[in-house]
Amino acid sequence: MDELARRQAIEEFADMLRDCDRAVVFTGAGISTESGIPDFRSPGGIWTKMAPIMYQDFVASEEMRREAWRRKFAMDEAFGAAQPNVGHAAIAAMVRRGIASVVITQNIDGLHQASGVPDDKVIELHGNTTYAKCLECEHRFELEDIRGPFLEEGKLPKCGYCGGMVKTATISFGQAMPEEPMRRAQEETEACDLFIAIGSSLVVYPAAGFPLLAKECGAKLVILNREETPLDGDADLVIRAEIGPTMKRVVPMN
Ligand code: NAD
Repeated sequence: MDELARRQAIEEFADMLRDCDRAVVFTGAGISTESGIPDFRSPGGIWTKMAPIMYQDFVASEEMRREAWRRKFAMDEAFGAAQPNVGHAAIAAMVRRGIASVVITQNIDGLHQASGVPDDKVIELHGNTTYAKCLECEHRFELEDIRGPFLEEGKLPKCGYCGGMVKTATISFGQAMPEEPMRRAQEETEACDLFIAIGSSLVVYPAAGFPLLAKECGAKLVILNREETPLDGDADLVIRAEIGPTMKRVVPMN
């Protein structure tokens, strides 16, 4: 996409935002790269460095659970201080101004909430890595209570209520999708007239099914991503650009 085409696409996006009645914003790891958190599939992304741990392996093997917790605290060391960026701020403004009803996110970093989107307006499809949960009784545990015993004494967290295994509150590959967020995401997608996918390679299913569902239900689809996605051909508008500078132009902040 050359600079002129990009500029025209951004103007068209601004018009679509002005004309819509109810937008839904759908985000992937790309919205958080400008906060310093690498995505999965860009060159240098997390997957170019290590393969994900499957849910079944986490449950079956103590060594895998140790590896998962080692990685988690190493990630926190590197990215734990990440702050929302201008793209998150623009999306938060869209929710505040009633342009977007909700943010459906594949991200687990909690940065939409940190940017001011109320908790009940963020639908997390893949959970959240800023706390942990018992896999049996779903009791919530805070990471501060797990970090010291694990890093200093090698203790794996265990639920004090039911004895179950404790894992970050994320959805791993091989783990069932969370029912309530999936149901809400479907309802919101069916009710919108503009669906905006931002910073996602749109290859992880079932999450990537939502843009297509929106189209089937008659909404317009906008895709903002620096790289091509498999759904570009289904979109009414594709903007191949950086997220922060683009969102700053379409959602003026003052
Ligand atoms: P992905 O890594 O597959 O795709 C990210 C896309 O964003 C890429 O196509 C990339 O080109 C684009 N991108 C990156 N930075 C950009 C920028 N500044 N401007 C424009 N485009 C940009 O991510 P995905 O589609 O979200 O799927 C991967 C899975 O990774 C998700 O399930 C998510 O749970 C998980 N994940 C989350 C985080 C996080 O919470 N921040 C980080 C890494 C992975």
